[in-house]
Amino acid sequence: MKDLVIIGAGPAGLTAAIYAARAGLDFTVLEQDGYGGGQIVSSHEVQNYPGTGKLSGEALGEAFRNQALETGAEIQYGVVESVIRQENGFRIQLQDDETLESKTVIAATGAVPAALGIPGEAEYTGNNISYCALCDGSLYKGKNVLVIGGGDTAVEDALYLSAICKQVTIALRSSRFRAAGSSVEKLKKRENIRILENTKLVRIEGGKKAEKFILEQENREREETFDGVFIAVGIRPVSDYLKELPLKSEDGYIAADETGKTNIEGLYVAGDLRKKALRQLTTAVSDGANAAASAVRYLQEYRG
Ligand code: NAP
Repeated sequence: MKDLVIIGAGPAGLTAAIYAARAGLDFTVLEQDGYGGGQIVSSHEVQNYPGTGKLSGEALGEAFRNQALETGAEIQYGVVESVIRQENGFRIQLQDDETLESKTVIAATGAVPAALGIPGEAEYTGNNISYCALCDGSLYKGKNVLVIGGGDTAVEDALYLSAICKQVTIALRSSRFRAAGSSVEKLKKRENIRILENTKLVRIEGGKKAEKFILEQENREREETFDGVFIAVGIRPVSDYLKELPLKSEDGYIAADETGKTNIEGLYVAGDLRKKALRQLTTAVSDGANAAASAVRYLQEYRG
């Protein structure tokens, strides 16, 4: 039986790993995509992580991962299906029938991009509909794209795409951006970015690929043509694998205090999955450190 299993290898999970390794725990980190780093790797430039200056999300994610490995963390591939409470700890069921047992668990699986839920969206995802500008932006060199959303992700995506594409349109469902003011100012100065306020994408149509985009503005529908659409309308927590536990949560975000303690003894939560006011890299790494420190304290009492 392990001392600790950390589920998720984003900034929260990897920070927890660094602290767990330094505390001498017998633990493993489970990562789902084989390279780790979490959502941050799809950010083209990180500007608000102290000490690193401007750095790509990919470079920062890799640095987190390398540091965790150098500190002694073991990172293994594993997709968790369920976590079940048992006497003395937890059973972690993986997709390929493998099972791990651990005295404590840190859930750090973060969140994934949310969908709009409109007709045609699921059907055309991957065929001119994307949730990752950094991954797919280069496919639209010199083309005309639409970005949906007004948060930091949408604004950063629009700025990134404007350097590649001929024209970028960003559509906000209201007249208010949620993104940081400095990014919005930059956006407004880019000549090839068009801002559409009070505009919703309501339907996507096409043949093999998405071709027709029906927008609604002031209760009127109209069709516009774009070569591709990037959807950046927030995030959805990844917490389905915890559903067998009676955890306190809200909309899938797990409730925990600042030490990462949930209402289940030995189970901690860190990063974007935690119910909290500010989801940023800085708060994710803070959560990771707190959750690992809590697990270490719990294990000291457990061992007596
Ligand atoms: P977000 O801040 O939650 O913003 C979501 C945006 O999508 C809002 O403009 C929202 O509009 C819009 N939206 C939601 N549902 C929609 C719908 N059905 N149709 C049209 N528009 C819809 O999400 P995010 O930009 O993905 O950011 C998530 C978190 O990560 C935030 O805390 C953000 O600050 C953080 N983040 C930080 C950075 C950075 O610091 N560099 C970069 C990226 C993300 P309304 O405003 O009308 O609700």
